[in-house]
Amino acid sequence: MSPATGAVTEALGELHARYADVGDGELADYIPQLALADPDDFGLALVSMDGHRYSAGDADVPFTAQSVSKPFVYALALSLLGLDEVSRWVNAEPSGEAFNGISLERTTGRPANAMVNAGAIVTTALIPHTPGTPRFTRILDCLSRFAGRSLDVDEQVYASESFTGDRNRALAYLIRSTGPLPVDPVAAVETYFRQCAVRVTALDLAAMAATLAHGGVNPLTGEQVVSEAVAAQVLAVMATCGMYDSSGAWLLRVGLPAKSGVSGGLIAAGPARFGVAAYSPPLDTTGTSVRGRLAIGELSRRLGLHLMRNPALAASTVTLVTTAGDLPTAPAAGHERAAHEDVAVVAAQGALDFTAAERVLHALDEAGPEGTGAVLDLVRVTGIGGVARAMLRDGLVRLTADGLRTAVADPDGLLRRPGHEDGDPRIFATREEAVDWCLGRGGGGSGPPARPGPPPSGP
Ligand code: GLN
Repeated sequence: MSPATGAVTEALGELHARYADVGDGELADYIPQLALADPDDFGLALVSMDGHRYSAGDADVPFTAQSVSKPFVYALALSLLGLDEVSRWVNAEPSGEAFNGISLERTTGRPANAMVNAGAIVTTALIPHTPGTPRFTRILDCLSRFAGRSLDVDEQVYASESFTGDRNRALAYLIRSTGPLPVDPVAAVETYFRQCAVRVTALDLAAMAATLAHGGVNPLTGEQVVSEAVAAQVLAVMATCGMYDSSGAWLLRVGLPAKSGVSGGLIAAGPARFGVAAYSPPLDTTGTSVRGRLAIGELSRRLGLHLMRNPALAASTVTLVTTAGDLPTAPAAGHERAAHEDVAVVAAQGALDFTAAERVLHALDEAGPEGTGAVLDLVRVTGIGGVARAMLRDGLVRLTADGLRTAVADPDGLLRRPGHEDGDPRIFATREEAVDWCLGRGGGGSGPPARPGPPPSGP
């Protein structure tokens, strides 16, 4: 029993109940085995960044990944070859065409993107094939790492697509005829069919999407499957191309990177939030699961998950902009009081990113430059990203260069770095110690030897 998180399960259950009776859509039958799917199967699954799994309905029913495999094989190609090399062979422009369209650049034969069949076949062809490690072994291993368990191939679906897959073969021949490819897309088509026939469940797909959302780290196994940079690149292409000729409308209304497949699987990822997946075989005219589209669209609306709506802006970062004269510890009057009033104090809280760091620096500018010192209080800061750290250090160094004594209350050493450079801010465990140092009293904290006043100039 999980009474508290039962709310999440219940939300998925409600979505499931709401759309279970929708009878629209057709099963894909151009791959004969897919027409044997049960149109009533309907599963929803969500995996959080902490690896918590939630589901409703048929989230354990196996089906073949089909095109939902494409972003993950693209991730493998990017990991092995890098974005520049992969982009020479597969572009990243929305094609505005159906998944099986002839989406090739006129002069070069380069496919529009890796989410349409043409681009996916070339992407598969880019995966190295060596006697020791065949191409498909690398692909299956990668998909399994994304899912957090060993996946296998539905041989019947593979054989069925291989038997009827002339359109994809024709695409591969066309690509070979127009483009100077480093590899043979015709030979790669069979591998592409096998990759599409890899068997998954909605829970597997949610874990795979969650791995992309989690900077490439599988939240179930903790394994770094691809780099953070590659995960972001894949999500970007999913956002612009993952829903084929309905990608623009999907991004507009749902606002999540997503990928659909003709077996009825659909994934979406909320970066740094969750991975979600739906399985329901009846498809709309774009080859997307009808119930999947409805359920994930509604989930995004209900939970306010649209990417372009950024709730981070609402959080307050700077909790205090004042001078040491206004702190309870300041003397009531006299020369000492005036000295306190010349020391600016800015306190911040929470996790600091670029936006938060800009606010903190602005507050320091507001409070600091006319005085003799500035204290930045990070006691309630929970974390600092690399960019924010560099910005804060730079801002403090600039204040120091302006002639201020600058000190940081930073008990967790968030701004500390190995070795000290000239002008680095002094770091103290408490705000009081930092203020004392700015007033020219107390211990030196960590950093270079105390050097009151501006640095000596001239030779
Ligand atoms: N294997 C399928 C095909 O190539 C995948 C298409 C899809 O899922 N959209 O036709």
